[in-house]
Amino acid sequence: MALPVAIIGAGLAGISAARALIARGQAVQIFDKGRGPGGRLATRRIEAEGRKLQFDHGAQYLRAEGAGFAAALAEAGTAPWPDTQRRVGVPSMSAVPRALLGDISWVASRHVGQITGHPGAWMLRHWDARLVRPGEPLPASAPEEAGPFAAVLLTMPAIQAREVLGHNAPSLHDALGAIRYAPCWTVMAAFNAPLPLPQTLRPEAHAIGWAARDSSKPGREAAQENWVIQAGPAWTRAHLELSAEDIAAPLLTALAGFSAAPLPAPFMAVAHRWRYSLLEAPLGEPCLWDNTVRIGYASDGCIGGRAEAAWDSGAALAARVLA
Ligand SMILES: Cc1cc2nc3c(=O)[nH]c(=O)nc-3n(C[C@H](O)[C@H](O)[C@H](O)COP(=O)(O)OP(=O)(O)OC[C@H]3O[C@@H](n4cnc5c(N)ncnc54)[C@H](O)[C@@H]3O)c2cc1C
Repeated sequence: MALPVAIIGAGLAGISAARALIARGQAVQIFDKGRGPGGRLATRRIEAEGRKLQFDHGAQYLRAEGAGFAAALAEAGTAPWPDTQRRVGVPSMSAVPRALLGDISWVASRHVGQITGHPGAWMLRHWDARLVRPGEPLPASAPEEAGPFAAVLLTMPAIQAREVLGHNAPSLHDALGAIRYAPCWTVMAAFNAPLPLPQTLRPEAHAIGWAARDSSKPGREAAQENWVIQAGPAWTRAHLELSAEDIAAPLLTALAGFSAAPLPAPFMAVAHRWRYSLLEAPLGEPCLWDNTVRIGYASDGCIGGRAEAAWDSGAALAARVLA
């Protein structure tokens, strides 16, 4: 293909697709609305009380079942945590997508809102991501335009992909409707003293779905006591539209229920709402590709709800594009 392929999304699926295409000599151009790459493989940095804190508030650990993702995790310099089967980025989870992207250039902080043009010469309209609010119409300001592109690959949660797709590939649009994600409220909290709790908690049928001493991961500030507390899907749904300020207190109370002694108050606690977190209903196919219009879709939503599934889906889509 003489023209480049556009990839919307620099999460694991987008990075994997990009690497596979570039390896076969196909030029790509990647766009992401985030300031850094990685999507849900994310690290939040916060300064509080004069201290620099960090929290992996998206994916907690990575596990490779297949050789492809195992090789990627080795290349990205991941280390085992909290056991030998699971791995994390060092010194942060966001180091993984950065390492895998390497020197592939990408366009940051741009929200792609529309695909225009026609098959074989697609154009993308993109806006400053700070101006775009989820669920609201695209900004009235004029977008920038990029293209033409030989093909367009969408690599984000299915609901977001449908918004960008518009009427350009009706078969894809319909198929994406089958994919559903659970939301997840996540609290990041920092304490002055160690909590009398194990490194990780994964209770069943509880407000908390997962909690972990994030600062115990390899390469972190071991003197810090930073926790990531993720609510389970039922609790998150019941509290989805609360403001972030109202989320930390009930989840910290729930965490205290696992300790025999009262827990100290954190000196910093903030909440983040993931509207699309773990997968509840997958597509059941490795990826989607409409060869007539040359638009495709890859993400964890296709096969599995885990980082490895996103990686494999991106590679599967690249293979379809090149076939
Ligand atoms: C709270 C939480 C906990 C998790 N825990 C784990 C775990 O422990 N282990 C595990 O394996 N997996 C876990 N996951 C799932 C894992 O993070 C995902 O499977 C994986 O990161 C998905 O990668 P992706 O590339 O498919 O999508 P994403 O990572 O969502 O990447 C999509 C990218 O597209 C960008 N984007 C979206 N729309 C646009 C647009 N219009 N214009 C431009 N850019 C756009 C986004 O900014 C994002 O960077 C967790 C996820 C969450 C949210």
